[in-house]
Amino acid sequence: MYVGSYNVALVLCSLAVAVLAAYAALDMAGRIGSARGPAARWWLAGGACAIGLGIWSMHFVGMLAFSLPIPLGYDVGLTSLSLFIGVASAVFALWLVCQERLPWRRLSAGALLMGVGVAGMHYTGMAALRMAPGIQYQPALFALSVLIAIGASGCALWIAFKLRHAVRHARTLRAAAALVMGGAIVGMHYTGMAAAQFPLGSVCGAAGSGVDSNWLAIVIIIVTLAVIAIALVTSVLDLRMEARTSVLASSLAHANQELAYLALHDNLTKLPNRLLLEDRLQQAIHTSTRERTCFAVMFMDLDGFKAVNDAYGHHIGDRLLMEVAARIRVNVRGQDTVARLGGDEFVLVTQVEEPADAATIASKLVRIIEDEFEVEGQPLHVSASVGIAVYPGNGTDQHELLANADAAMYFAKSSGRNTYCYFEASMNQDVQGQVELLRDLRHALIRDELILEYQPKFHAASGEVVGAEALVRWNHPRRGMVQPAAFIPLAEKTGLIIQIGEWVLDEACRQMKCWHEAGHTDWSMAVNLSLQQFNHAGLVQVVRNTLARHGLQAGSLTLEITETTAMRDVEATLATLGQLHGMGVKISIDDFGTGYSSLMYLKRLPATELKIDRGFVRELERDSEDAAIVSAIVALGQTLNLRIVAEGVETREQQEFLTRLGCDSLQGFLLGRPMSAEGFIEAAMAPRGLRVA
Ligand code: C2E
Ligand code: CA
Ligand code: CA
Repeated sequence: MYVGSYNVALVLCSLAVAVLAAYAALDMAGRIGSARGPAARWWLAGGACAIGLGIWSMHFVGMLAFSLPIPLGYDVGLTSLSLFIGVASAVFALWLVCQERLPWRRLSAGALLMGVGVAGMHYTGMAALRMAPGIQYQPALFALSVLIAIGASGCALWIAFKLRHAVRHARTLRAAAALVMGGAIVGMHYTGMAAAQFPLGSVCGAAGSGVDSNWLAIVIIIVTLAVIAIALVTSVLDLRMEARTSVLASSLAHANQELAYLALHDNLTKLPNRLLLEDRLQQAIHTSTRERTCFAVMFMDLDGFKAVNDAYGHHIGDRLLMEVAARIRVNVRGQDTVARLGGDEFVLVTQVEEPADAATIASKLVRIIEDEFEVEGQPLHVSASVGIAVYPGNGTDQHELLANADAAMYFAKSSGRNTYCYFEASMNQDVQGQVELLRDLRHALIRDELILEYQPKFHAASGEVVGAEALVRWNHPRRGMVQPAAFIPLAEKTGLIIQIGEWVLDEACRQMKCWHEAGHTDWSMAVNLSLQQFNHAGLVQVVRNTLARHGLQAGSLTLEITETTAMRDVEATLATLGQLHGMGVKISIDDFGTGYSSLMYLKRLPATELKIDRGFVRELERDSEDAAIVSAIVALGQTLNLRIVAEGVETREQQEFLTRLGCDSLQGFLLGRPMSAEGFIEAAMAPRGLRVA
């Protein structure tokens, strides 16, 4: 047998190539694992080529390191075949480790196939020597080499599979694994070589075919290293890019989240906006239907917010809204939804055991908003009007629930603000009607739709007409004659009452002047003032101007304010009434007996008359208690030197009783209904005066 020898440098070189190829293999497996679609296929193909080429060139360099005393050469066809086998097993191996799972049976089958592939590549490479006579293989060593190939393949597949997803210290682990794998491949090769025996006298059939082995060695090593290096560099670059892409992707996801947040939340208070609220309502409806529970929708509007905004500016207004939002937030449960619909409107969605529980929560809301706010050192006061709609019952979907809670809120506002109100079916219609009415009322003045009627006042004892009370009506183009009770409260709420009141005063004074000029110089005219009008800063000036405009003496005008209005802010009332009284205008306290007068203040009020509320008059005959009240009022008036007027006189009995008690004047349907100016003068001229039953 020939004794072969090894070129140590080339052997080391083969080891280096094997380790590098193994490292590339592990790296590629990781790459393919994280790539998707066509990119994964490219990585598989490129990676397999690099690895296959690597293992094959390790084998080939190993062969070149080996020399026999006879010249050696390599058959090009068989050498190419061995390269092909190397690449093919690498493709298979890579494909295998990139599967979702790698059960033991698949791993064993894979190891067997790949081991056979690697061995096949090696022995095909050996066959490329075309030795004659043929190489004799020692069976034990041959078997051992194949076993090493299978074992090494199994190890390699398993390690590659485990390392395919980036783990901590992946690089170090990969390098260690590559050393083991490279060692195993080299071990297989040299075991295979040890198994090979070349009988003396055998010749290499491929020798002298023209391929110089030293030159070949250099080329193969360079090409292989280059291919593996390119594969690794590409892999690293790709990894970097992937990392950058993932950073980009995560910042994009973050931006998306931010956008979604902005689209669903109110910018100022960071509370959910209408969009999110409607979604939450929908969910609440689902849950409540499924679990047979109930929840309340509370529509809340701030009273007096506009005033704050006007007085302190939008900046303070905004800060106040934020404070309000925060105060609501901390006073409700975590699972409740608090949303802002814009402006000073907030909505609370909260689960309740039964509808009545909503009242407790609503009154708490009202209470916490009532407390003073401090914004930039500025103490501010607002209050809340809350409308409650309960599911199930007050609506079938989120829109209806919201609309109904809104309608209820409107009623809370009109019933004096700073309170809450449950929804009732009648409200919806009313709100629509009120909205339309308000729209029309704005035009009523310009279109000259308001008119005045005059109800006569009589001297109780003599039955003489002493004057008239002007009562406004609205001649609506579609609704016909609208009574003041239907639109005065609306005009009050919206401030329109100021303009309407000025018109009434003007028209009543003009009429009075006409009647004076017609000879009824002893008549006086009573005009009603509502709370807003009375509190309006321009009132005294308007009265003065109006009187002057018509050349009417102040003494011919009586202003009627209700007892409730007069007693609301006593000091302010005293100041205003003082000025009017100073001008000579007479003051009448209307609806007397319905409010709470303090006698002490009543004494100080510069009023001229008390008007007993018609509620007492109505019950006079049947209710002795009312009779007692009326006589007490009359007595009080006499002590305070006030004239007493009884209104709402509808029967003879009432008229007689009131006259007997000592009322100065009487007013009522029995004696004269409110009527037009023409009707009034006609009736006054009639032979029996205005005493029509
Ligand atoms: P008020 O000041 O108490 O006016 C008296 C109301 O009682 C009038 O109703 C009148 O028609 C009604 N009345 C008079 N005699 C009788 C009677 O014998 N029996 C009954 N049942 N009612 C009688 P009207 O005209 O509907 O006015 C209602 C309220 O509207 C007034 O109550 C007053 O507070 C307000 N109002 C009317 N006109 C004006 C106005 O020009 N300005 C302001 N601010 N309020 C007005
Ligand atoms: Ca009145
Ligand atoms: Ca009255």
